[in-house]
Amino acid sequence: MQNQDKETALTHNIRAVKAITDTVKTTLGPKGMDKLMMDMGGDTIVTNDGATILQEADVSHPVAKMIVDAADTQESMCYDGTTSIVVLAGQLLSNSEGLTSKGIHPNTIREGYGQASRWAVEYLEEMAVDAGSHLHDVARTSVTGKALASSMEYVTDLTVETVIGVRGEHDRIRVLCQPGGGLDDSYCFSGVILHKEFLIPSTAEDSYADVILVNTGMDVQKMDDNMQVQFSSAQEFQSYRQQVNRDDWVAKAEAIAKHLPNGGVVIVRDNVNEIVASMLARKNIATVQRVPESDMVALGHLFGISPAHTPEDITMIASTQVEQKTIGDMNYVVIEGDKQSPVITLVLRGATRQTLDETERGFADALGVVSIAYKSGKVVSGGGSAYMAMARYLRERATDIGGRAQMAVDAFAEGLESIPATIAENAGHVPLLDTVLSLRGAHEVDNHHWGPDITGPSGTICNMADLGVWEPLDLVRQVVLSATEVSTAILRIDDIMAKKSEGAPQQSGFGMQQM
Ligand code: ADP
Ligand code: MG
Repeated sequence: MQNQDKETALTHNIRAVKAITDTVKTTLGPKGMDKLMMDMGGDTIVTNDGATILQEADVSHPVAKMIVDAADTQESMCYDGTTSIVVLAGQLLSNSEGLTSKGIHPNTIREGYGQASRWAVEYLEEMAVDAGSHLHDVARTSVTGKALASSMEYVTDLTVETVIGVRGEHDRIRVLCQPGGGLDDSYCFSGVILHKEFLIPSTAEDSYADVILVNTGMDVQKMDDNMQVQFSSAQEFQSYRQQVNRDDWVAKAEAIAKHLPNGGVVIVRDNVNEIVASMLARKNIATVQRVPESDMVALGHLFGISPAHTPEDITMIASTQVEQKTIGDMNYVVIEGDKQSPVITLVLRGATRQTLDETERGFADALGVVSIAYKSGKVVSGGGSAYMAMARYLRERATDIGGRAQMAVDAFAEGLESIPATIAENAGHVPLLDTVLSLRGAHEVDNHHWGPDITGPSGTICNMADLGVWEPLDLVRQVVLSATEVSTAILRIDDIMAKKSEGAPQQSGFGMQQM
């Protein structure tokens, strides 16, 4: 790249981004297509989730990677809107190319885009309405066009029930997928379900029990992953294990049993050896071992207690319903919660692992966006209508500033229109211009809810608010801000150079391989 002029570097980068945008773009909106992705080993996945496509795609171009990172950030902050951010960032960059060809410096474009995004977001916030009565709409909007849409009402009810149950605290929602049955066998359970069994089956008749959480193990210290110890006989191994005095184990079991005089359950983060487990079982105490950190945290939330660091410093005991149950063909330990400190486990069922994976991704998006709408309390109309409204507002404001900056703001406004335009294009609106012109006209004279009618021919539009298509304000705001941030960051780059250390960027290529 060193010998090429600066403008060519930008053109080259925009081309790399365009390769990604073009691939992902066809999946946007309810009528978007799916991608079948296959790796060298022949493993396939079928999805239309933007984030999944980009995570799985082999993207090598460093600038294209910046777009993938932006989509990742969108996914982790808002759970959805990943395709939108890629489409918008791609269009903003592509529009900037038109401006540079007219002799406008990338810095002027960056400033214009920055100003435009601030105005757009201000207007977006003004447009937002209370989320309260729109939670089902938000769930439905997110699920439309996905595999899950075949059981739309069931899925949206389950999603909203779960989010309201945890009062919008997304980290209190747990998802458990068990193949077998159909989607309609899915349900939400108030409590935690551990993918575990009792170490020694409990003999207790009554499943109501006192529960203790211990954040450590009760076994010989685990060895480092890369450490090896060789034994030449079984006796040698036994004596190694007994290096730690049997009395210590007995003392630990007694420390636990003392808190559970009527029996109960002890849930332990790490390994528990047979001496401890069988001593406890004799006292009617069931043990669950090797419980993952995230499950321990969830149980802490569920009971409103913190796990003890060692058996010796147990101070908190919870009482609840605990049972070992079979779901599908697997055993689980099911721990019920109370309404005070809710943790909800969504048990998802589906015929095969592959359909279940796509079901899980669909629910992850829906649960995420509904909890964002619940927490922030504001929504805007979807179907690209909010983007269209921001575009109209920006064109009006741009005339105040005039000159080159106005051209950048106009280019930004046109970029925003790429969201409704792409949704329409994927729904078969050809020529697209009719739809864009109808939308511009409608937004000039009426409210800001007009979006493309995905069931009608080109040029037909509909009122997204009347249709019940709503999205969280935070999601759309984040799409606009992140797309601006990544596209202006790319506009700053005037050269790509090889770097001495590993991972030097490649000289050419469009970024996507093996798609
Ligand atoms: P993303 O990864 O960006 O979430 P999606 O493929 O999920 O992409 O598409 C989301 C877009 O589809 C949003 O702009 C949403 O408002 C829009 N959408 C959802 N339902 C409808 C509908 N019935 N009519 C038009 N657009 C819709
Ligand atoms: Mg989506």
